[in-house]
Amino acid sequence: MEKLSIELSNDSIGFSLNKLDVPEFNIEDKIPSKLLRKSKLNLPQLSENETFRHFLRLSQLNYNIDKNIYPLGSCTMKYNPKINEELARHPKFINLHPHTPDEFSQGALSIIYELSELLKEISGMDAVSLQPSAGSQGELTGILIISKYHNSKGEKRKIVLIPDSAHGTNPATATLAGLNSVEIKTVETGGILKAKSIKNEIDKYGENIAGLMITNPNTLGIFEEEIYEISNLLHKIDAQVYMDGANMNALVGNLKPSKFGIDVMHFNLHKTFSTPHGGGGPGSGAVAVKKHLAKFLPNPRVKKIDGKYKLVYEDQEYSIGRIHSFYGNFGMHIRALVYIRMLSSEGLKFISYLSVLNANYLRKRLEEIGYKVGFEKPSMHEFVLTLKDIKNKYGIKALDVAKRILDYGFHPPTIYFPLIVEEAFMIEPTDSESKSSLDSYIKAYENIMKEIKEEPSLLINAPVNTPIGRLDEAKAAKELKVKWQDID
Ligand SMILES: *Cc1c(COP(=O)(O)O)cnc(C)c1O
Repeated sequence: MEKLSIELSNDSIGFSLNKLDVPEFNIEDKIPSKLLRKSKLNLPQLSENETFRHFLRLSQLNYNIDKNIYPLGSCTMKYNPKINEELARHPKFINLHPHTPDEFSQGALSIIYELSELLKEISGMDAVSLQPSAGSQGELTGILIISKYHNSKGEKRKIVLIPDSAHGTNPATATLAGLNSVEIKTVETGGILKAKSIKNEIDKYGENIAGLMITNPNTLGIFEEEIYEISNLLHKIDAQVYMDGANMNALVGNLKPSKFGIDVMHFNLHKTFSTPHGGGGPGSGAVAVKKHLAKFLPNPRVKKIDGKYKLVYEDQEYSIGRIHSFYGNFGMHIRALVYIRMLSSEGLKFISYLSVLNANYLRKRLEEIGYKVGFEKPSMHEFVLTLKDIKNKYGIKALDVAKRILDYGFHPPTIYFPLIVEEAFMIEPTDSESKSSLDSYIKAYENIMKEIKEEPSLLINAPVNTPIGRLDEAKAAKELKVKWQDID
């Protein structure tokens, strides 16, 4: 375990300053002495190389996608090509002040414009805003647009239908937008949303339904095969269909959401189009809409007028307004554009094939070892195991297996989500893993299955090969200690 810098502290000095050539500043002249510290401040004292090595060692304790597979279901933690970073850090981009007038920021505006055009092509939608800075903010943008659409017709629709497999941000979004979410059960229907269930909700709530929020493929990694029928049913009462596009990695280049009746959707640029999003961001939740919703998009918008790019405010009485300062997380736009342009449409198609192939290979091999899937339907880019039987038979929980995976040098998958699968293990290998990388991951699961049966204490006590062992997660959350304190 790496010590804190204050614990490593010695009498070294990490810098040398020139001799003072101005009168010394006397702090006591400026600040009343009763406010001044009596004893010396205890700061770490280290030489330059000791300081550097300390932080380098700390950085190496982190798990990251550059180190190994990061199969965190729903998050699409794919490898981020280094050219993305190089271009996003280009001085001509990072030194561009956000208040620079349009005529002097044509390059940056053209990137926003071009990326928006590509996202229109990929989704089959008619207009795009890159303002939202995360998937969740894209959801809020989309639901506010739907709400304003109904309001503009003099209607006050309050109900948003959301399947029980949805990401927690979906119902949170509905609430934040001032609407009420109604959960639709999918457990009894094999994990997919049935048109029949939507019909029932329409019978019950009729034109109080503002729309549906659906993730396709859903968080079980299953394609919503009745989506087309579902959209048609909802459109009959002019309810809108929102798609949470976090799982676009399974469709990109092959299927446009506009084809199955989506009215508004978000992309997680930081998932589908690479870009790092560990540690909470930054991200970009670009929103795409069909023509009838375009006037409700946030302002300002980037338009191309007589060959020049301009930030314009239009449809002010319809626009939901600004959702982010300036024009969102511009660095993310550069990364996504580089990624898409580098791959082209053929490459993007290949991304979704590979992500589905990798997930199915992994699923099949893990099933052969004895792990069970939560729902039997074919998988797209991810799949969800249930460790319920293992828990019942051997007393080993999903959490124990996840901790043991750490000992094998891998990042564990998402656990206990989606909520409709008991002891859930949600695995998304992404397109960026090779067969040999998947095979080494499978090997760990094979060993762990043996340990579950023969030496379960290895799992209960895991992890043991990590810098710190098993944490009391409840205590860590309730008694947060992020500050060093000199005990004596
Ligand atoms: C990641 C994710 C979100 C939220 O996106 P953020 O960019 O993290 O805000 C919403 N829904 C699903 C299914 C997701 O996987």
